[in-house]
Amino acid sequence: MKAFSKMLIAVSFFGSVFLVGIFDRKMMTIVGGGDTMSAAVFFTQSTTSAHLRTAFDNASRTKKKLNVLIVPGHEPNFGGTEFRDVLERDLNADLSLYLAQYLVEDGHYEVVMTRGRDGWNPHLENYFTTNDEEIKNFVRSQKMEMLRLVSEGRITKMGDLVPHNTAPSDVALRLFGINKWANEHKVDIVVHVHFNDSAPRSTMVPGEYNGFTIYTPERQYSNSQASLDIANHVFKRLSKMFPVSNLPGEDNGIVEEQELIAIGSSNTVDGASILIEYGYIYEPQFRAPEVRAMVLKELAFQTYLGLADFFGESSLVVGPHQSTLLPYSGNSPVNKTTLANTEVLAFQAGLLAKGYYPPRDYSRNDCPLSGFFGPCTKTALAEFQREFGISGEGGIVGPKTRAELRNLFEPSFVSKI
Ligand SMILES: [Zn+2]
Repeated sequence: MKAFSKMLIAVSFFGSVFLVGIFDRKMMTIVGGGDTMSAAVFFTQSTTSAHLRTAFDNASRTKKKLNVLIVPGHEPNFGGTEFRDVLERDLNADLSLYLAQYLVEDGHYEVVMTRGRDGWNPHLENYFTTNDEEIKNFVRSQKMEMLRLVSEGRITKMGDLVPHNTAPSDVALRLFGINKWANEHKVDIVVHVHFNDSAPRSTMVPGEYNGFTIYTPERQYSNSQASLDIANHVFKRLSKMFPVSNLPGEDNGIVEEQELIAIGSSNTVDGASILIEYGYIYEPQFRAPEVRAMVLKELAFQTYLGLADFFGESSLVVGPHQSTLLPYSGNSPVNKTTLANTEVLAFQAGLLAKGYYPPRDYSRNDCPLSGFFGPCTKTALAEFQREFGISGEGGIVGPKTRAELRNLFEPSFVSKI
């Protein structure tokens, strides 16, 4: 995509400042009623799907775009999980940048990222320092209000289904600070980007679970309806390509949560907010840099398409293949290699799109798009070759196999060679 590479240059020109735009500071306006209200009020819908869709439609006609805040999980130099030399906080920043680029390119959104790989967005950093007292007061009053409502029985306290690491207090304050900033800047949609981990595991050995999950604000919160609606659309897209987490409690794919600060614990976020755990840090597709980059880009693209679906926009933006990994155009032979590579990834994606991957009797969790030529790919390849009567290419993706698969994307290809 031409526009995409242009955007890449534009963004990298700003160096570590990933800041695509900065929203106007405006008074909060109540959604639905038309009155003015202060942020973070319980029992009033602070946003709705209908409100967001109207704003989206208006964005085409007016200059007022939708405000999207992308929050790469954790801090520039602190926090997040890791596996071997892969740091979650870097994956979060890289995926967020891809997502920001797709959204900006779309034209309906104004996008701000809270940080890049190397530092905070200076606007946010400055906000944390100059609003330290206000943020603390905001947290205190929201928590007290929450406690009061729980004690009066007006809010039901939910137990955590899935255990989360508790953010240390200065980190927690910055997360609440991001929420407050988002409310004051009238952010329509907040997307938190994370990668998961399962504990305990030994540091060098992959853990037990894999797949993605989307967390949304618990339904008693003011921003829950639109958040859940968006989450459902993003889920639909991601689950076409990627396995849903098989961790008990996450295996529905969407989890409502009352305690996660990021998506608005104590009713602290007005805009729609979702937190996506895109996969487990130790999954094979995040290991080799080139494969990792392609997978992160695809995860971002599917997220973007989910938002486009929510707004009913898909026909405008989606090409025939609806994936950055397609169509399969594999030009090189694929052999069993010890390292993951992008040719294997492309081959797997091609098979997946046509229903041959994962192979029979395997799940997406057994056989993710990994770039590794392992048992999953070997089995799928054998099945594919059997089905198409291909001989003499056992164990490798040779010219006949590639031609048959390419023909599925571009009928008549086989007859052309
Ligand atoms: Zn995380």
